[in-house]
Amino acid sequence: MSSYRCEVCDYVYNEADGDPREGFPAGTAWADIPDDWPCPDCGVREKIDFEKIGQ
Ligand SMILES: [Zn+2]
Repeated sequence: MSSYRCEVCDYVYNEADGDPREGFPAGTAWADIPDDWPCPDCGVREKIDFEKIGQ
C-alpha cells in the first residue's frame, strides 16, 4: 500500500485508509481513482499532480 501527497496543501491519500468522504473505501488503490479527481482539501491539484511518498 502506498500514500500520495498533494504538494499544495499536504493532504495525503493512503491506499490502506482510502477516503470514505470522497467515496473511496479503505483499500482503494490509487490506480482506481479517476485521473481528474481533485484534491478534497484544496481543490487546486488533481490526481496526476500528487506525489508518491513512502515505500
Ligand atoms: Zn491539496
